[in-house]
Amino acid sequence: MSAQQQKPAKRPAEQVLQGIGVSPGIAIGPAHVVEPGIIEVPKYAIAADAIAAERARFADAVARALKQVAKLHDKADTLPGSAAEELGYLLDAHSQMLSGSRLVRGVDRRIADQAINAEAAVSEEIAEISQAFLAMDDDYFAARLDDVRDVGARLLRGLMAVPYQAFSDLPEGSVIIAEELSPADTALMDPRLVGGFATVIGGIQGHAAIMARSLGLPAVVGVPDLVGKLHSGDSVVVDGGTGKVTLNPKPATLERYEARRAELRRRQRQLARLRDLPSVTRDGVNIMLQANLELPGEIDGALGAGAQGVGLLRTEFMYMNREDPPSEDEQYATLRVFIEAMDGRPVTVRTLDAGSDKLAFSIAGHIQPSLNPALGLRAIRLSLKVRPLLEAQLAAMLRVSAHGPIRILLPMIGTTAEVRQVREVMDKVVRRLRRRRVPIADPLPPLGAMIEVPGAALSADSLARVCDFFSIGTNDLTMYTLAIDRGDEQVAALFDPLHPAVLRLIQFTTEAALRARIPIAVCGEVAGDPRYAVLLLGLGIRDLSMSAVSLPLVKQRIRSLDIGEATRRAQSIMDQSDAGVIAAMLDDFNALA
Ligand code: PEP
Ligand code: MG
Repeated sequence: MSAQQQKPAKRPAEQVLQGIGVSPGIAIGPAHVVEPGIIEVPKYAIAADAIAAERARFADAVARALKQVAKLHDKADTLPGSAAEELGYLLDAHSQMLSGSRLVRGVDRRIADQAINAEAAVSEEIAEISQAFLAMDDDYFAARLDDVRDVGARLLRGLMAVPYQAFSDLPEGSVIIAEELSPADTALMDPRLVGGFATVIGGIQGHAAIMARSLGLPAVVGVPDLVGKLHSGDSVVVDGGTGKVTLNPKPATLERYEARRAELRRRQRQLARLRDLPSVTRDGVNIMLQANLELPGEIDGALGAGAQGVGLLRTEFMYMNREDPPSEDEQYATLRVFIEAMDGRPVTVRTLDAGSDKLAFSIAGHIQPSLNPALGLRAIRLSLKVRPLLEAQLAAMLRVSAHGPIRILLPMIGTTAEVRQVREVMDKVVRRLRRRRVPIADPLPPLGAMIEVPGAALSADSLARVCDFFSIGTNDLTMYTLAIDRGDEQVAALFDPLHPAVLRLIQFTTEAALRARIPIAVCGEVAGDPRYAVLLLGLGIRDLSMSAVSLPLVKQRIRSLDIGEATRRAQSIMDQSDAGVIAAMLDDFNALA
């Protein structure tokens, strides 16, 4: 072949998609596009008196799948030109299939008639429909077959809370591209292999986003029509700061991003030098800076960033990606790794905060379908309902208290009665451990409450009488105060912890704790944002817990602040009634620093 005839392979065109940046940094690498994948479906019999509940579980999975498809539809509507229309048709077909079609009716009937679990009923129904369509030997039905299988896979994923895949065996630096990632999926990402991720669905304060920040993985969510645009192995850049995802970047674009990534890494190294400097304001007030951890793999990062302790250990990871909840012994062994690694620094361990978007397959059987899972059986409510779960957790925590200073933190507390009930369970567990002569700390570890429900914040003075400490969870507090789903990218722009209502609840809670002389910390995401430091310190907070990656920046900010000045700023901010004005006041002050 002559040189003239040899055409160079055509490079796919560069394309920039815009989403919401939720975890800063730049990932450059080969895409790993998450395909729904093959799901192993268990089959088991359902007792006659549990069939109604199984049908309800299926109905709930259908409702959730419909919601997902509607969200994808909204995203598709924002696409340019015919792409919106094409994807719209496809998603319309999916939502029709989820609205009382043969598939849905057939599955429901199988559960009722054959007394089998919903997953098995879905997969058997799909197999039967597929056979019928194939027998028709018709292009139209062949195309519908893909839709039926897609919808079936969506239902199965919802029913089984299945992670898409283990994200092992990936080329180093892979960028995960997926429709949606659950916290359980994110927990499976090894930062040595995964460079970052981008998804179609997801909000800024969702737990997958929080996990990405903790792992230091650049991430962008809410990117319309992302999945169909590229294949595994294609080159992609995810900019978690600006929310831009560049597919098939041109050499010049790559060069620009590589330079930016090098610059960010240089800045990180500079900040790392702050590690051993004290976290103290200019006028000499010590501020405790601790790390929020959700996986054992994050301990080194927290110590490397100079964390003075663990202010929030989310224990949900122990329950994820497995069939049964962990035993007391297993939890003890896992917690001991944290306590020993922290080497005498305090560790605040939170009891299971499952439910809502943090679903774990191992406890899914305890939570019945709910129309409003964020308001449903979750967190401490679940622990108090399923006592063996709580007893095993408390026993593991008490046992580990013999190896280092720990505090026990209760999520989603709403009433003083809940705290009292936990104390009763704890007393019982303590008596049992003492009878068995198992060493536990004396005095017992402090028992505290997350203040993340507006009702709890408003009764902080009563709660302070039954709690040994408070930790303010601004993520849920903002969500519940403003009625904005923290994980929903459609309302992400409305999620504003600077809303005066949220700030007043933080102020009221802090004052109640200070009056009662119990320690108070903030462990929601605002603690890790240096812009808010002046306000939190000015309101009286002296203990902040955040993703390890945020520690150096926040410490730098704290070392430039003066408590007297911060107090005056906070007072003038608390006189305001408009979140926009408050943000502008903070920006002005921070720009002066
Ligand atoms: C919060 O709600 O602010 C919090 C720290 O808890 P989580 O993010 O785990 O719900
Ligand atoms: Mg919370």
